[in-house]
Amino acid sequence: MRRVALIGRPLRRRHSQIMHDAAFRHFGIDAHYELAEIEPGEVAGFVAATRAPEWFGFQITAPYKQDVVAHLDEVEGPARAIGAVNSVVRRDDGALVGFNTDAPGFIAAVRGAGVGTAGIRAVVAGAGGAARAVVWGLLDAGAAEVVVVNRTRERAEALAEAMADLGRVTALAAGDPAVAQALSECGMAVNATTVGMTTPGTAFDVSLLPEDAAVFDLVYVPPVTELVEAATRRGLVTRNGLDMLVAQAEIAFARWTGIADAGPVMRQALEAWDGLESGQA
Ligand code: NAP
Repeated sequence: MRRVALIGRPLRRRHSQIMHDAAFRHFGIDAHYELAEIEPGEVAGFVAATRAPEWFGFQITAPYKQDVVAHLDEVEGPARAIGAVNSVVRRDDGALVGFNTDAPGFIAAVRGAGVGTAGIRAVVAGAGGAARAVVWGLLDAGAAEVVVVNRTRERAEALAEAMADLGRVTALAAGDPAVAQALSECGMAVNATTVGMTTPGTAFDVSLLPEDAAVFDLVYVPPVTELVEAATRRGLVTRNGLDMLVAQAEIAFARWTGIADAGPVMRQALEAWDGLESGQA
């Protein structure tokens, strides 16, 4: 049996396991997605073990997205620029290559919603790993400007500085009066904070957006956040984080198995899973 795994601590979600195991079954691949809640001291040993031929690769969540890099043979350019490796593929020669699925997963979700990115102005709330992937993805997809809004201004500034070579990125603190103007002029607003998931409320005021703006919430538990609800009520094109979650899983699966169209099977499995609505770990 071939193996893939998710390493992190604590591991609260089984969404990836549900999606990948369904795809392995559907495509007749004898493999399993394991949840490996490991201690910091176990990271090096775990990664070394995945050089064995039974492994396709593995995925990484908090707090190991940085730690893992030192143990890999290669990190692809986008993952390096984003500063987060969330997936690893084991090449046939046993080399471990780190990559990031969040940036292409987000852009795939945007395209799936029929929303264009060339020349747009976007507001991205958040400055963590997900926000970095979204900003990189938007700039790579031709956005004219990205305004990063974050509760902690210094983190927004660090993100803007890290991406400055790629395009126009402005950093604002969440309470800055300039946020309202940025929202009123943007074509897309993205929530890449945990607001709506861990805390109630919305990361930005949907009522300020133009009528043709699109709203993307990266949160997928609960499936209908206050943000998605407010954007839907306004008649804006809006998506929760499920499209991105499925798209990024499809990308990892393709890198591991060569099968590029696992998305629909993965989505079906998620929707049939009774843990989705409840946010079950
Ligand atoms: P992270 O690195 O921990 O960053 C969290 C972000 O949320 C930071 O910008 C933080 O601001 C902000 N934040 C936290 N609590 C806040 C509050 N009460 N008010 C305002 N801002 C607050 O997390 P991440 O990995 O980037 O993930 C962010 C979100 O994206 C999560 O909900 C995650 O589930 C989601 N996500 C979804 C997908 C998908 O496929 N759909 C993929 C990746 C992530 P400070 O800097 O001020 O602390």
